[in-house]
Amino acid sequence: MPILNFSLKLKTAFLMILFLYFTLSWASFSEMKIYYGGLHSHTSLSDGVAMPEDAFKYARDVAGVDFWAVTDHWDRLDFVGSLGKLGNYIKDSSMNPEKRFQLIKEQAYKEEVPNKFIAIRGFEWNYDDIGHINVFNTDTFIKFSEGQSLEDFYNWLRKQNPEAVAMFNHPSGEGLNIWNNFEYYEDLDKIIDCIEVSNGDFDDYGDRVQYYFISLDKGWHLGPTATEDNHGFNWGTSSENRTAVFIDELNEEKILRALKSHNFYATTDKNLQLYFFANDNPMGSKLSENEINFYIKVIEPDGDKINKVTLYTNGKNIVKEWTMVGENKFEAIYSISLNAKTEVENKTNNALERYYVVEVETIREKGLNPILYEKRNAISSPIWIKL
Ligand SMILES: [Zn+2]
Ligand SMILES: [Zn+2]
Repeated sequence: MPILNFSLKLKTAFLMILFLYFTLSWASFSEMKIYYGGLHSHTSLSDGVAMPEDAFKYARDVAGVDFWAVTDHWDRLDFVGSLGKLGNYIKDSSMNPEKRFQLIKEQAYKEEVPNKFIAIRGFEWNYDDIGHINVFNTDTFIKFSEGQSLEDFYNWLRKQNPEAVAMFNHPSGEGLNIWNNFEYYEDLDKIIDCIEVSNGDFDDYGDRVQYYFISLDKGWHLGPTATEDNHGFNWGTSSENRTAVFIDELNEEKILRALKSHNFYATTDKNLQLYFFANDNPMGSKLSENEINFYIKVIEPDGDKINKVTLYTNGKNIVKEWTMVGENKFEAIYSISLNAKTEVENKTNNALERYYVVEVETIREKGLNPILYEKRNAISSPIWIKL
């Protein structure tokens, strides 16, 4: 029967297209690798120790990370005269601020190893307790006279290269360090891409992660980072805090693009692998589909036990929780169906948009006593769904 034949052929063709679509999508992502690094550290150009080249060398050769950023404080960079605290290396008090900022770039280039280690220059803006912000991929840094309020700093940031990347650092409570309560600006949302959920070591994660959710609820499109904020000779070894980026090739441009696209997650375990997809789209994606199939995969290569995996949405509400997984591998598919009408009724100030975030908790045993253990965490960038 020609009609049946035709419809069968059509069906086969449709299935093939569907298959092709899925395989293409998976194939393009399967070329992505996870690279681990740090986005916050200091040297004697501000209130840390040694020179940027020492930080990059140490992070590369001793810590063995894939990328590392030196982000000295803006006010110290802009200070002409004797520098830093006791034990600092820099002696050249005549070095002007521009030269000092340029030096970080020069030393970064020198220490890079193609496809192996990427060194990144940034700086940290901070004034009183308004909230500290790291900035990457700008040609200059903000002068001390120009940025003594959040408004002045934001105005400066607005004028920078649109490919600049900024990060909210070490959020903490009671009006301090939360950037005027995360007041939202649509233009700045395109430049500020990250927020720290752990700064230093794993044990502050519990206090800081709530601000990630608060910022998302305010409408910001941010992904989470875990950093060390080093002020000593321990770049990459003071803890296991890492930011993990999905890229197909290790270079600075791709790292910065991954940060801008939120294809990254934070982890306080140096090699935990976290994959999060919605209808085949990786973390960081923005979708507008009602029927969502989430796919989550976690691999813990060192044998720590996965204790809990949680899928959250707006208001840090739990969508689904998998507890006491107890293995070092986890994989799940979870489907939801969003009702457009309900979404309209539930809309927040960021109309009709939902975010979904996956958080992982692992247990690391310390010694033979089973009570002695540490909880480590990883948390994904969101997948946003707008109906
Ligand atoms: Zn800071
Ligand atoms: Zn810092």
